[in-house]
Parts: sequence; C-alpha cells; structure tokens
Amino acid sequence: MNWERVQVYLEVLACPLCKGELLYVEKQELKGFVCKRCALLYPILDDIPNMLPEEAIPFRDESSEGP
Ligand SMILES: [Zn+2]
Repeated sequence: MNWERVQVYLEVLACPLCKGELLYVEKQELKGFVCKRCALLYPILDDIPNMLPEEAIPFRDESSEGP
C-alpha cells in the first residue's frame, strides 16, 4: 500500500472500539493499523484494512515499553 493511501486511511479511520487514533505499522509480514489504547492491530489484506475488532491481532509496541 502506498504512503498516500495510508495517510488517507489514517485520516478517515478510527479504532472501532475506542474511536481513538490509529497508527500505521509495518512489521515483517504484518502490516496494518494499530490502536495503542486497545493494543490491537487491524490487519491490511490486499490493500484493504480489516477493521473488525473480532479479527484484530493483539499488538504490543515493544519500543514504547519502559524499564
Ligand atoms: Zn482502540
């Protein structure tokens, strides 16, 4: 998915659970929109974000973890 499209999705999409802001994450084969508050990743499959909470993947951002 190209960056412009990602930006558009980020503007229009929100987490369906908490309506919070999403973050685009690409990690090896995993890519999608992450809600940090819910610690869920909504995967992007064939350039289409899957925003179903029941299909979201638990996601933890290791880089933001404190000591
Ligand atoms: Zn959320």
